[in-house]
Amino acid sequence: MVSAIAISEPGAGGDPAAMKTRAVRDGDQWVLNGRKIWISNARAADFIIVMARVGSDARQGGITSFIVEKDTPGFVIEREIPMLGGGSTYEIVFEDCRIPADSVLGEIGKGYAPMQLRLRTRRLEMGSTCIGIARRALDMLCEHARQRETFGVKLADRQAIQWWIADISTRMHACRLMVRDAADKTDRGEDVRHEASMIKVFATEMAYEACDHAMQTLGALGMTLELPLNALWQKARLMRMYEGPSEVHRQSIARRVLGLRG
Ligand SMILES: Cc1cc2nc3c(=O)[nH]c(=O)nc-3n(C[C@H](O)[C@H](O)[C@H](O)COP(=O)(O)OP(=O)(O)OC[C@H]3O[C@@H](n4cnc5c(N)ncnc54)[C@H](O)[C@@H]3O)c2cc1C
Repeated sequence: MVSAIAISEPGAGGDPAAMKTRAVRDGDQWVLNGRKIWISNARAADFIIVMARVGSDARQGGITSFIVEKDTPGFVIEREIPMLGGGSTYEIVFEDCRIPADSVLGEIGKGYAPMQLRLRTRRLEMGSTCIGIARRALDMLCEHARQRETFGVKLADRQAIQWWIADISTRMHACRLMVRDAADKTDRGEDVRHEASMIKVFATEMAYEACDHAMQTLGALGMTLELPLNALWQKARLMRMYEGPSEVHRQSIARRVLGLRG
């Protein structure tokens, strides 16, 4: 089965605690009202996990996860939004959308718990994906640098190019160790929220820069749409945004280090 997760709203993306979608209990049903945006897989999904506020108006208060089945009346896919990389996200609306009382995923008011668990694993997966992207970009960069000559010298002999190769290789190695460490801790049942945020920032920026340096090394060839480089670069660019922009993860990392709450 295909699933989708609907957290982001027009006024609440990087800061999901500002969400306005509401769920109100009515007898043996919940009634959902609200708007979500940037939702991947919404059209293909057999069910969608929707986060909505129950009761309290307070920030964070009452946020609960619900499962909404495809074709439920009141669940409307309003528009498809073309994104970088050739994919799409969707804007969806819940208009008096009635779902059974047992559609709550986890506990009422603890909607972040199942989301955090899933997103934490996703961030580790993202780290591995980014290593793959960077490795492919580095391979293409090296292959081109070995054979391309400018001003009578091979690009591979230029210090600027060598430093890019050295930096990408070093960061890939660091990223691999970070992912292995976090995966190991996850297997031991430890909380890796902090490590997952560090991976999300480090890996996505590493992959993006690796693609960028490879594109620069390839010259005009790197600007074509004929090579996989541009697709990798776009994918890495998207990953710096979805599931929390780098800046929000940096904020979380710093707040934990500083011992600040919230
Ligand atoms: C391809 C793609 C797929 C997505 N899929 C889904 C999905 O399936 N489900 C879903 O719910 N959402 C999804 N999203 C939404 C995504 O998670 C949000 O776009 C993201 O969290 C950012 O929210 P926003 O767009 O509202 O940006 P905002 O929250 O408005 O932030 C805009 C920018 O402001 C800056 N900023 C924000 N907060 C801070 C801060 N605290 N400190 C410093 N700078 C800050 C950052 O630079 C940030 O990029 C997807 C997005 C993309 C691009």
